[in-house]
Amino acid sequence: MSRKQNGFGNFKVSSVKSVEKSLKPGKVGAPGIYPSDRRFGSSVTRTVIQQYDIESNWAKWRKGVEFFYNAYWYTLYKKDTNGDVVLDGNGNKETVLIDSKLYQGTGYEIDVKFSGWRFSSQSTDTSNHYVIKRTNTQTPNLGIISQVYNDSSATYTVGSNPTRTISGASNYSHKEIWIKSTNSSDLVLYSIGERIRDSSTEATLKNVLNDQLHPAIYLGKTSTKKKPTVKVTVPLSTVLATDFIAANDGDVQSLIGQIGSLGAYSKETAITSETFTDHNYDFDITLDVTENNQTFQILDNPLNLPPAVLDISSMSKLYESSAASFNFNPTYTFSKQYYQRFFGDQYLTAGLAEDECNKYSYSIMPFVINSVLVVGNNLEITSIPFEANIKLFSDTADRYFIFTDHSFTIKSLDTYNGVDYHTPGDPANPNPWYRLDTDVDPWMDEVFTSGQNLTIADVYCCSCPNFSNTIIRVPEQTANDGKKINNRQYRYPLPTAMSKIDFQNEGLSEVAGIVQSWETFKQRTGFKLCKHTIAIMFNDNLKVKEPNTYPSLDTRLNFEANLEKSMEENWSQRNNSFKRTALTNMELVYTLAEGLNLDEVETASVLLETKF
Ligand SMILES: [Zn+2]
Repeated sequence: MSRKQNGFGNFKVSSVKSVEKSLKPGKVGAPGIYPSDRRFGSSVTRTVIQQYDIESNWAKWRKGVEFFYNAYWYTLYKKDTNGDVVLDGNGNKETVLIDSKLYQGTGYEIDVKFSGWRFSSQSTDTSNHYVIKRTNTQTPNLGIISQVYNDSSATYTVGSNPTRTISGASNYSHKEIWIKSTNSSDLVLYSIGERIRDSSTEATLKNVLNDQLHPAIYLGKTSTKKKPTVKVTVPLSTVLATDFIAANDGDVQSLIGQIGSLGAYSKETAITSETFTDHNYDFDITLDVTENNQTFQILDNPLNLPPAVLDISSMSKLYESSAASFNFNPTYTFSKQYYQRFFGDQYLTAGLAEDECNKYSYSIMPFVINSVLVVGNNLEITSIPFEANIKLFSDTADRYFIFTDHSFTIKSLDTYNGVDYHTPGDPANPNPWYRLDTDVDPWMDEVFTSGQNLTIADVYCCSCPNFSNTIIRVPEQTANDGKKINNRQYRYPLPTAMSKIDFQNEGLSEVAGIVQSWETFKQRTGFKLCKHTIAIMFNDNLKVKEPNTYPSLDTRLNFEANLEKSMEENWSQRNNSFKRTALTNMELVYTLAEGLNLDEVETASVLLETKF
């Protein structure tokens, strides 16, 4: 018989919650609105303070400094095909991984070199992030700074016959700093999105206008629905005579998958009989190009790297002909919305664009061979369908350069009242410390100096999501404990309905299975930073100044407590990740593509053409 209860319920001690437990609230979620079911189309709404904390560069800076003090990286050295480290002329390990060219094939090529560092990470599929530094070995002159229009209350009158006005207020609302450049080089027409510098100021170039303040560049892209191919025709007998075909028992199909190259064919040419077609919101230009007596090469593709990131002259030739012909018949589309504002009341039509512009530039990148067909005495070699772009130019010697106002940095010698507090270096190679200020307000601070030359800056880029606002998915079979497959995306937002508009995102939407990007225009055109690039800048004697976008106190206290813990975890993780020997092509390629200033279409084509 059970004991009679007293009528007031169960009074067993074990059933009473401890005071501490019962007073402790349940888990408090973040105060913003975070849908529990984060599917495509759902939106995350953060509070103002949360957003500020996320956008604050301070946390990145703080972690970067910590990484630097701990020398928390692994320098990548060039390796030969046997996997042995290559030595440079002085017997030191070679740190230049790849020599490449900017604007390959455009006639404005610049030699650049890449060096790299690897950081371990728990939040990627490959447990590594790569920082790549692009160093220019040439400093081309883009033009001479003649005037800086950075007074937001001024109206400037420029030009003559007719004169035109630049409204500081309008530029301020568009977040743009305009400058006038004289004797400007046509290279600048290829440098949109680049970091441009004089001797101390650096900023991201957003646009270029001609001397009438009308667009100097119109960028068109092929539609993803109708991607062009290029068909190259060469004499069959010359192909059959190659060692490569002989080694493959005379089978021309063995060429499929190799790289076809028209010498990185690029043409800047006057507008003549091209077809311009007007639509309501965009206009098209259609080319129909047939060229004879072209140089054509078939290159061996053993590295599985896409051609755009390699110096193609260093790849071994399987075949070469100077008697090739090719046909290329693409249609490119231009979105009017980006250009209409510079014409005021005048309506931009295909006809007006045709009148304004005098030349255009398009290129045919080296391509992966998709099919070959014997036709009579010839072999027709067809590329995989690719996305391509075209630039229409309105060409004048004086130009106006437009920079995004949130992208400015100023670099100066790291001295205080003329005194350098750093330990002096080797007098023969002083390599002094510089200070990089990332909190420049170009509307208040003095930026760009009249009379100085503009050139292209060196850049640091990183494969981490914090830098690129993109996640690259290379699913790992197992986590380090050998048990479960990790979903690495849990810490980053999925692209939502608030992501980029279709035209901007056209290229990358193709590789959605590989890359997911939530990069906004502001992020893309700003000065990109992450803790890894900050650490490497410090390592390069470039001291990044503590940013003044200080996070809220709560966040800071939390942050300092967590930093110590996470550094310890990172150290143990470091050994795990560095055991993996192979460089992951995907991340390296993505980082290089960023460093080469490839646009989305080019980046997408690079990623798609890489075999993983
Ligand atoms: Zn990074």
